[in-house]
Amino acid sequence: MKGLIFSVKRYSVHDGPGIRVTFFMKGCPLNCLWCHNPEGISPFPENVMKINRIGERKFRIKEEVGKYYSIGTILEILDKEKVFINQSKGGVTFSGGEPMLQFKFLLEALKACKENGYNTAVDTSGYSSAENYNSIIPFTDLFLFDIKHLDEEKHVESTGVSNIGILDNYRLLLESGKDIMVRIPVIPGFNDDPDHLERLRHFLKTTKNGSLKKINLLPFHKIGSSKYKKFNIPYRMWNTEPPDKEKMQKMKDFFLETGVKVKIGG
Ligand code: SF4
Repeated sequence: MKGLIFSVKRYSVHDGPGIRVTFFMKGCPLNCLWCHNPEGISPFPENVMKINRIGERKFRIKEEVGKYYSIGTILEILDKEKVFINQSKGGVTFSGGEPMLQFKFLLEALKACKENGYNTAVDTSGYSSAENYNSIIPFTDLFLFDIKHLDEEKHVESTGVSNIGILDNYRLLLESGKDIMVRIPVIPGFNDDPDHLERLRHFLKTTKNGSLKKINLLPFHKIGSSKYKKFNIPYRMWNTEPPDKEKMQKMKDFFLETGVKVKIGG
């Protein structure tokens, strides 16, 4: 069995505790306006042209985005980083895209990682079946769970899918007793109005139990915008400016009232 992966990040410190290896799996059922990883949306391998510079000269070279990895290769990569992972109490994170889109591979990869003693994390948009989440729960130590908007209409408008199943899955994971870090992308004009923030804080506070370990506020940025050109996808966020530091700090203080740790960034 093989999984389609578009990037492997070693020494990652933003995708769970300690030093981790993060595998970015290709394919996402959402299509968020602000997506920073547009190369992760298509579930197929893609070929794009990349410009390399040597001094004044520019070269166009073909770049293959998405390669098939076996479980054995995943374990080999982890094995090479084992010393750093163990010393830092880190592990492995499966991100994307949406890793649940390659559910069968993800399940087998998580099982194999657990059998080999690794701490496992899954970074998910929450968009998959409850059955799939129930299957991976025994082999997942931590869920990084995105909550983007509480209103279904707004959610559909900006991500292409309903949030009803996502919020149900969030409750399901809370009940599982596994650690959860909620990730909220802070997108000006989409989910940062006072009314929505108030409702979001209330939702997190009233649903929380010991599973919810941290809330990460991820400020919108345009760093991924150049990738859109490469993939021939129109970038739709030119008119949106990243939230400033002061605004993010106020938001952090605001969410601290949930009684949960809050961090700006991953
Ligand atoms: S869920 Fe994440 S990977 Fe998928 S489109 Fe949205 S931002 Fe991109």
